[in-house]
Amino acid sequence: MPAGGKDKGTGRYGTQRGMGRLRRSNIKQVGRLSNWERHDEEAEVFDRHGAIDRVSHAGERLVSQFNRLVALRKTATRPGEPAEVCEVRPGLVQVRFADGREESAAIRRALEKRMVGVRNTIAVGDRVRIETTAGGLAIAGIEARDNQLARSDAHNRSLEHVLAANVDLLVAVAAVKEPDFKHGFVDRALLLAAAHNIAGMVVVTKRDLGDAQPMVELYGKLGLPCIAADARDPDDAGVAQLRAILAGKVCMFAGQSGVGKSSLVNACFPGIGARVGSVAEQGFGRHTTTAARSFVLPGGGRLIDTPGIRECVVGGLKPQDVALLYPDLARFVPACHFQDCTHRHEPDCAVLAAVEDGEIAASRYWSYRSIVDAE
Ligand code: GDP
Ligand code: ZN
Repeated sequence: MPAGGKDKGTGRYGTQRGMGRLRRSNIKQVGRLSNWERHDEEAEVFDRHGAIDRVSHAGERLVSQFNRLVALRKTATRPGEPAEVCEVRPGLVQVRFADGREESAAIRRALEKRMVGVRNTIAVGDRVRIETTAGGLAIAGIEARDNQLARSDAHNRSLEHVLAANVDLLVAVAAVKEPDFKHGFVDRALLLAAAHNIAGMVVVTKRDLGDAQPMVELYGKLGLPCIAADARDPDDAGVAQLRAILAGKVCMFAGQSGVGKSSLVNACFPGIGARVGSVAEQGFGRHTTTAARSFVLPGGGRLIDTPGIRECVVGGLKPQDVALLYPDLARFVPACHFQDCTHRHEPDCAVLAAVEDGEIAASRYWSYRSIVDAE
């Protein structure tokens, strides 16, 4: 940080300016902002003077003050220590360090000011750098996100609400029966993943209750992993397959209540005791959409659980965009007569022709239609 601005040095020499800063930093201040400023000043003193011998000429008092600060620094968390955000709910951000320790952290004001158009600066899954301030731990920086899952904020449509960041895999879960398999739900979940640059896959649960083969074939043809499983059985072949796919990944499960998401996670990782999507059911009511948490999975992966994913739909896409995010439709789009074909009623539509020929599954076409017709 360059000297100047609010820097009111007490003398011509850098060391004396430093002393002034140290003196001011000793003034008891209240409030988080004050603590931030104090921290900045300490950091600057270190940056400018580095080793103790360069300031020793300024006298014993300064030397002892420096030594005290150096000692403080050694015991405190290293500045910029990497961590991941593991829980976000109103008024609370919890971070997890590499050793598994979890602590709550404030968000640095300067960081918040830099983020515009979002309701929340920090989301579960964010990779952050943590600094120690007089007021406690604080998030000083966010690493660039690989991707983020966002929806428009419930209270202010012009703001984005980021539900999760750095997600490797979105697992769409649906049951063969009880409740009935809902193609629309699965297709919307896959669209959500594709639109946010997240890999998608499908798990068909309760295969003991009916024939899961048609769904496995349908989604397998799209080039996505699709597994049928008995989610209550840890020895089930589908469960073992899923366990292997999840290894080391940051994953999220999307599925309607009762399809077997929790059973699936517990079958994959016995003893983890997860209740996926349970936060909402436990009485936080509708407003839990803001609560999100990540769990460490055996094998190093993460499970991100945010009830908000239920209300997460892709909005604002033109039919042409949606079609391109449907891999089975996208294949035919270049052959449509009109470049801006919406694949609804246009003549010489290659997509409609492919539906008629059975090359595109009717369920896929109609879920596409329900999305674009609602826009
Ligand atoms: P969630 O709400 O998606 O987390 O669903 P749960 O995991 O709580 O499961 C809902 C109900 O379905 C429970 O009674 C489970 O025992 C049952 N269930 C889950 N997976 C299967 C399955 O593969 N086969 C059968 N028959 N029942 C299942
Ligand atoms: Zn078309």
